[in-house]
Amino acid sequence: MAIYHVVGLGLAGLAAALDLADRVRGTAEVRLWEGAGHAGGRCRTFFEPALDCEIDNGNHLILGANPAVFAHLDRLGVRDRLTGLDETAFPFLDLGSNTAWTLRPDRGRIPLWIFDPARRVPDTSAGDYLAAWRLLVAGRGATVAQCLDTTSVLFRRLWEPLAVGVLNASAEEGSARLLARVLMETFGRGGAACRPYIATRGLSDALVDPAVSHLAAQGLAPAFGARLKEIVRDASGRVTALRFAGETINLGPDDRLILATPHEVTRDLLPGLDAPSGSRAIVNAHYRLAKAPRTPPHGLALLGLVGSHAQWLFIRGDVAAVTVSAGDALAALPADEVARLLWREVAQALSLMGEPADAATLPRCRIVKEKRATFLQTPENAARRPGTQAGGNLFLAGDWTATGLPATIEGALRSGASAARAALSR
Ligand SMILES: Cc1cc2nc3c(=O)[nH]c(=O)nc-3n(C[C@H](O)[C@H](O)[C@H](O)COP(=O)(O)OP(=O)(O)OC[C@H]3O[C@@H](n4cnc5c(N)ncnc54)[C@H](O)[C@@H]3O)c2cc1C
Repeated sequence: MAIYHVVGLGLAGLAAALDLADRVRGTAEVRLWEGAGHAGGRCRTFFEPALDCEIDNGNHLILGANPAVFAHLDRLGVRDRLTGLDETAFPFLDLGSNTAWTLRPDRGRIPLWIFDPARRVPDTSAGDYLAAWRLLVAGRGATVAQCLDTTSVLFRRLWEPLAVGVLNASAEEGSARLLARVLMETFGRGGAACRPYIATRGLSDALVDPAVSHLAAQGLAPAFGARLKEIVRDASGRVTALRFAGETINLGPDDRLILATPHEVTRDLLPGLDAPSGSRAIVNAHYRLAKAPRTPPHGLALLGLVGSHAQWLFIRGDVAAVTVSAGDALAALPADEVARLLWREVAQALSLMGEPADAATLPRCRIVKEKRATFLQTPENAARRPGTQAGGNLFLAGDWTATGLPATIEGALRSGASAARAALSR
């Protein structure tokens, strides 16, 4: 009986495992290997003693335009574990000028909102938005900054925060094509596609734990703490053995490997693979507030911040968590310095929201630095993303493979499904 090995149980590996488990039933064996002590990879929840509550490793935003995410939730019967925020109101604060506004896109596809000063970014004109067509027709080698007027108010208050948030790279280095793809799939499709969703209780609760339970119910127990050290291939490129610390697993002629490890690990395991290189950090600061802000009824809120280090503020009950993407410089600072610096900005934002907070008194806090949060999403790296088929019985998955999307949960899930499909059809 053929054996399908899946190595790496982030969302890409989990998606591949779920598809395999559903389809091979009794005709083949599926074996799951994960280097860490848990599944979820870069998308996970853990108990933080300093805050005395569970937190996610970082704020993760899911959009209505993420069909693979909703298919994943539906398969597991847990769609209700995400909460959708208002699709027509995106509040922003410019902490440099203490200006607040709410972007109010239309429910339909025609972007009438850009013609209404009360619904668009202050101090911008409809023409500024229309000039973004250059982004939509960008060549493969173009960066975001090369397509837009970087001196404009709209760039500073909308395009730059979006580019950094979506690409985890500065506008000067981020791929214009990748950003354009997201704009087409969100703003290009109207309100429901732009709707932001947040995991109600946490990422693991919504996306990871139900997948692990579903696999367990089918008799698939992952081997945790199993770090793959070496992949042995024969002259034709076929994988013949997997070397873990202390254990070698030989692959028979019909066996297949889906390798769903991050890009830099995969590059080490497969010398000679042409793949993206370099990463960017994301820093998250989680603050446990004395009391929960009066946010909308579901207790969840999302706020865009400009003119500050802090970029996106998520509020879940009494935890305010702020994200800094492309945060390599911040990640190099000591955690207590980062905590104080970002708290001053969060306190200012909360005060502007009508929830006065003392900038001088640091609440209980946890800084999470994900130094390799995503691959560096430059045009050059975007062109080097390999497809699923890696030759012979080897298939690649992960948010960094050629999904056409930025490195996201959606991309990771789609890549896992493609790898499973390819492995099954070989
Ligand atoms: C702070 C942060 C914020 C983010 N925000 C968003 C967001 O708002 N929206 C969004 O859509 N995406 C966001 N992302 C990106 C998203 O988390 C990733 O795209 C997604 O989780 C990647 O999944 P993956 O399975 O491709 O990779 P990973 O999650 O990295 O999974 C790879 C797995 O392989 C395992 N592994 C590594 N080496 C080995 C080895 N040698 N042997 C065995 N196993 C190994 C790892 O332990 C891991 O479990 C964010 C990421 C971070 C870090």
